[in-house]
Amino acid sequence: MLYVSTRGHPDRKHFCEILLEGLAPDGGLYLPERYPQVDGATLARWRGLPYADLAFEILSLYIDDIPADDLRAICRKTYTAEVFGTPEIVPLKKLEDASTGSARTVVYLEGLSNGPTLAFKDIAMQLLGNLFEYELARRGEQLNILGATSGDTGSAAEYAMRGKRGVRVFMTSPHGRMSPFQQAQMFSLQDANIHNIAVEGVFDDCQDMVKAVSNDLEFKRRYKIGTVNSINWARLVAQVVYYFAGYFQATGSPHPPLTSSGQAEPPTEGEGAKRVSFSVPSGNFGNICAGHVARTMGLPIEQLVLATNENDVLDEFFRTGVYRVRSAADTHETSSPSMDISKASNFERFVFDLLGRDGARVRQLFGEQLAREGRFDLSADAAFRHARERHGFISGKSTHADRVATIRDTHDRFGIVIDTHTADGLKVAREHLHAGVPMIVLETALPIKFAAAIVEALGREPDRPAKFAGIEALPRRVTVMPPDVQAVKEFIARHCD
Ligand SMILES: *Cc1c(COP(=O)(O)O)cnc(C)c1O
Repeated sequence: MLYVSTRGHPDRKHFCEILLEGLAPDGGLYLPERYPQVDGATLARWRGLPYADLAFEILSLYIDDIPADDLRAICRKTYTAEVFGTPEIVPLKKLEDASTGSARTVVYLEGLSNGPTLAFKDIAMQLLGNLFEYELARRGEQLNILGATSGDTGSAAEYAMRGKRGVRVFMTSPHGRMSPFQQAQMFSLQDANIHNIAVEGVFDDCQDMVKAVSNDLEFKRRYKIGTVNSINWARLVAQVVYYFAGYFQATGSPHPPLTSSGQAEPPTEGEGAKRVSFSVPSGNFGNICAGHVARTMGLPIEQLVLATNENDVLDEFFRTGVYRVRSAADTHETSSPSMDISKASNFERFVFDLLGRDGARVRQLFGEQLAREGRFDLSADAAFRHARERHGFISGKSTHADRVATIRDTHDRFGIVIDTHTADGLKVAREHLHAGVPMIVLETALPIKFAAAIVEALGREPDRPAKFAGIEALPRRVTVMPPDVQAVKEFIARHCD
C-alpha cells in the first residue's frame, strides 16, 4: 500500500516513511492510494478475534513495510487488558432501548477511554509509541517530539512514549489552565525522556512556539524534531479498528454485550445483514474520519453522526456546505474543551474523498482559498449531497446546557455517569435514531477528567479509578517558562546531549 498527498503531490510513499513525517511536502495530508475492501466472508473471519489480532488484520492491509510477525507482536504488546482495563479493550455497554415510532432502537456506549490517560486518544497513541520505538530502532535514529496541548493529546502522548528508547517528548501546555487532574496526570511522570513545559500564556502561545521551532529547518534537522498530532495517518488507522470492534459487539460476537438484565444479546443472521450507526463527539475530525475509512472499506455503517459543541464549524459544514474557519475571538472555551477548535485539521482528508480525490481542487480550496478568505462553499456542488447519501454523514450541535441535562438524565435513568464530550455525542445521537438500527455512541473520555461539569450536573465528584487516587499530591516534574521561542530551543538543546 502506498500513500498519496491530498494536494496532489506526485510522490508515493510507504507507511514507515510517513509514520515519522508530518504533513506531505505540498502541505497536504497523507491517505492510502485506495481503501482495501472488506467483504462478508472477511467480516465473518474477523468476528470473534481478540482486539489485538483484529488490529493486526486491519493494519496489515495498510502496512507493507513491517514484517507480519513484527506487526502482530506490536499489536499484541499494545492492546492488553493490563493497559486498557478489560479483555475487550473497547467494551460495549447497552444504555437503553429507545422508542423510535413503532420500533425500538438500542443505544450503546462504546468505552474508548479505559487506557492510561482515560481518553480515547490512548488507543491510537499507545500503538504510535510502539511503532515509533520499533522503527527508530530499525533505523538507528532518535526523535524529539515537540508538542502543544490543552490536555488530552499531551497526556496520551507522554504515557505512550514514557520509557521508550530513541524518543524524547517536550510537551508545552498553558501554565495553570489545564484541569487539576490533567496537570497532575502529566506532571507526575518521572520518566527521564518526558519533559513538561508550562508556558506562561494560553494554548495558542504554545502552538505558536511549536510552529516557530518547526519552521527553523536547521534546528529541526539538527535536533530531529517530530510531532504526534492528529494528522498522523498511523493514529487515524489505529482508530479504524474500534469501529469494527463496536460493530461486532453490537451485532452479536462470541462475547456479546450484556443487557441490563444480564442476558446476552442474540447473534444476527448473515454477516453484513445488520447495519449500525455511530455518533462521534468531534473536534479535529480525526475520530470520525476513521469511521469514514471503516465505512468506505465496507463496514456496514448506516450513519456517521458528527456531534460538535458550541464550536460548530463542522456542524455548519454538514448542514450548509460552507466551511468557515473561526477566529480566536470566535472560538469558545467550553465544558467539552477537547472539542474547542477553530478549524478541523483532519477535515481535508474527507473533502479529498468527497471531491473524488481531486488533489488540484483540494489544493485550491485548502492551500489557497482558505488562506485568502477563511472559508469555502460546496453547497452548489453535487459532491456535497454525497456527504449524506454516499458517505452517511449527518451532524448536530450540543451546548453546555445540553451537556449538563444529558449527564443528569443519563445518571438518573441508567445510573451511569458520562463525561461532557460523550454527553455531546449522546445528545446529538438521540436526534438521529433510525428505527431498528443500533446507535453506538463513542465514549471519548471518563468523567473524572472533567470533574467540574459533573459537580455542576450531579452535585458530586465523579468516581476516580483506583490507580489515580491522590495523584494531585505526587511530586511534579515541570519547567515553567515565558512564551519565548529561544527559551524552548535552549531547553531542548540542553536535554539532548
Ligand atoms: C480529542 C478529543 C475529541 C475530539 O476528537 P477529534 O479526533 O479531534 O475529532 C473528543 N473528545 C475527547 C475527550 C477528546 O480528547
